[in-house]
Amino acid sequence: MSRIMKTNRRKRNRQSVNQWIAALSIIAVILTAMITIIHLSNESVTGPSTPAVSTSFSDRPQSDDLNVSNTSNTQSGSHTSTDTTTTTTTTTSTTASTTSTTTTTAKKNGTPCTVTAEYANIRSGPGAGYDFIQKVFSGETYNIIGQATANNGIMWYEIELSGGKTGYICGAFVNYNGNGSNNDQTTTKEAYLTFDDGPSSNTLKILDILDKYNVKATFFVIYHKGQEDAYRAIVERGHTLALHSYTHTYSEIYKSKTAFFDDLDKLSNYVSNITGITPLIMRFPGGSSNTVSKKYCKGIMSELTGEVQKRGYSYYDWNVDSGDADAVTVDKDKIVANIKNNLGNRSNACILMHDASAKTTTVEALPEIIEYLQSRGYSILPITGSTPLCHHKVNN
Ligand code: ZN
Repeated sequence: MSRIMKTNRRKRNRQSVNQWIAALSIIAVILTAMITIIHLSNESVTGPSTPAVSTSFSDRPQSDDLNVSNTSNTQSGSHTSTDTTTTTTTTTSTTASTTSTTTTTAKKNGTPCTVTAEYANIRSGPGAGYDFIQKVFSGETYNIIGQATANNGIMWYEIELSGGKTGYICGAFVNYNGNGSNNDQTTTKEAYLTFDDGPSSNTLKILDILDKYNVKATFFVIYHKGQEDAYRAIVERGHTLALHSYTHTYSEIYKSKTAFFDDLDKLSNYVSNITGITPLIMRFPGGSSNTVSKKYCKGIMSELTGEVQKRGYSYYDWNVDSGDADAVTVDKDKIVANIKNNLGNRSNACILMHDASAKTTTVEALPEIIEYLQSRGYSILPITGSTPLCHHKVNN
C-alpha cells in the first residue's frame, strides 16, 4: 500500500515537473516572439526619430487651433499634440510614439499646390509636433520643394513661403493639380518661356518664332534705349512684359532697399511711358537666390523678397535653366540639351533664357525648344497674375 502511494506521489511529482517545463517553454516561445517583433519594428525605422505625429490629421484647421500654444511639444517624445488636445479627446494616438519619417527627393518638386482647407498650420518639420511657423489660407498657392511621409502614412509637403522661408504642410490640406484629386495622371503640364535682359535686336526674331508656333512668353526687360518698338511689340503681340532692372548693376541695386526700388520704379516708369502698361510681375537680377547681393548689403534679398510683394509685385525665379548665360554665346545644341536635362518630369516649368543682343543661339534654339515641350505635352503659357509662383530659396 505504502509503495503504491509512494509510486503515485512520484508520478504526480513527475507530472507537476512536466507541466512546469511545458509552461516555461510556452513562456520562452512567447518572449522570443515578442523580442523578434520589437527588433523587426526597430529595423523598419529608417529615419531619424522625430516628434510624434498623431494618426489623425491633427493639423486640421479648426477655430480652437488659433489658441494653441506650440511651444511645449517639440522634440519631447510625447505623442500628444497640443493641437489635438484643445479640441477633442479622440485624436491622441498610442502608436505615434514609434513614428519616423522618410524624407525623399520631391517627386513634385517645383509643382505648385493650393491650400484647400480654410487655413492650415505650417510646421518646421513633417508632423504636427514640430514648431509652428505660420498659417496659410484657402486658395493660396505655394511651390512644393520636398516631401516626407510619416510611418503612419501621412504625407507632408515642404513648401516655399514668402520671404525665402520654407515649412511643411499636411498633405490633406492641399491639392497640387487644381482638380482636387492629387492624381498625377490628370496633371496638366505647363511651361513658361521667359527671356531676361532684353529687348534687343533678337527680341523681334523671338516674337516671330513665338507667333509661328502661336505661343506666348514672358519678357523680363531692362532699360535699352532705342528698343522702344520692341517693348511695344511684346505687349501688342500678346506677351507678358515684366520688370527686371533699369541698370542691372548689382553693386548699385543691391546696396540698399531704397536703391533697389529707385531702380525698379525708374524702369516701371520707363516702360509705362512707352507701352501704357505698368507691369506687376518682376524678376530679381540673379534671381532671389543670388549670393552676389550680400557683398553689397547682407540680408538684402530677405528684405526685398518681402517688400516687392508688399508693393503688389509677384516675383518669379525659374526652375529650368537653359544655360544660355553660361558664356557670351552658348552652342545652340547645348541650350536645347540643358532644357531637356533640367526639365525632368516637372508639371510646371519656368524656363530661363535671355534675349540680350549676344544671345543669337537662343533664337536658333527656340523652335526646337518649343517643339520639344509640345511633344512632351506641355502647354506653353505667358506668366500672368494667376500663374503659380516659382521662387528660389533666398540665400543671403
Ligand atoms: Zn538679368
